[in-house]
Amino acid sequence: MKKIGIVCCACVLLGWRVRAEGNGKREGYVDTPKLPSGWHVHDPARPQPPVVTPGKYPGDPPSDAIVLFDGQDVSAWTGIPDKKKNPAGEMLWKVENGALVRTHFGDVQTKQAFGDCQLHIEWQTEARPEGHGQSRCNSGVFLMGLYEIQILDSYENETYADGAAGAIYGQTPSLVNANKKPGEWQYYDVVFRAPRFDKSGKLLSPACMTVFFNGVLIHDHVELMGPTEWRKLAKYRPHPAKLPLRLQDHPGVVRFRNVWIRPLDLGTSDDGMKTDAKKGIR
Ligand code: MG
Repeated sequence: MKKIGIVCCACVLLGWRVRAEGNGKREGYVDTPKLPSGWHVHDPARPQPPVVTPGKYPGDPPSDAIVLFDGQDVSAWTGIPDKKKNPAGEMLWKVENGALVRTHFGDVQTKQAFGDCQLHIEWQTEARPEGHGQSRCNSGVFLMGLYEIQILDSYENETYADGAAGAIYGQTPSLVNANKKPGEWQYYDVVFRAPRFDKSGKLLSPACMTVFFNGVLIHDHVELMGPTEWRKLAKYRPHPAKLPLRLQDHPGVVRFRNVWIRPLDLGTSDDGMKTDAKKGIR
């Protein structure tokens, strides 16, 4: 009886713990409370995150990224048909010294469409800039071809705040101005959640962005009012769940390099709040 008592006490102390000790079972607990997701706290059966090998250096694409431009290959890109400039919609931007350089034949976009994603893109404006405000190396990264993060030489070059580099154009200025000097390579790291629409086209949840500019946080989970616009209030209109990524043409030289994207799934149409922490406060 004494032995049984000791065993029972040990079980209570240890709980119904399953330890990985070479027996093939994963460490965890099944006697713990359930999270809103349905899993036990420390549930050993909860799926493991997939293994992704990080890049060797900061900014390098991780193992599961789709490399959109590696310094040479532009096969992921296409031009956009334009009656005057580019009737056939050919990819007319050029590669020079490992950089994709716009050539003023219009915007370019990826052949592949994307929705939720993580994006890394590096860009460089002219070392000796001409012009002021919006005229100084204006470009832009359009998630889904609709939602622009402004590219501009905003180093000691003031313009309206919602049009400076890093701004969600026409909507939300950056938290800080993290621009490097003209001619230096700069980069955006973006987490983008696409908007969700129901079958009738009604908006279920808006697009949302978190953005780092040269490693500095400039947007934290910012909801967008709709596709970015010039001189207008943004307004949503239903569109497909995935659309191409677009880079903007404008006067002035802007170069791009090291562009990669990781398609993500950040929740279903009616489940923007996916984590247990957020579900717990519903
Ligand atoms: Mg722009």
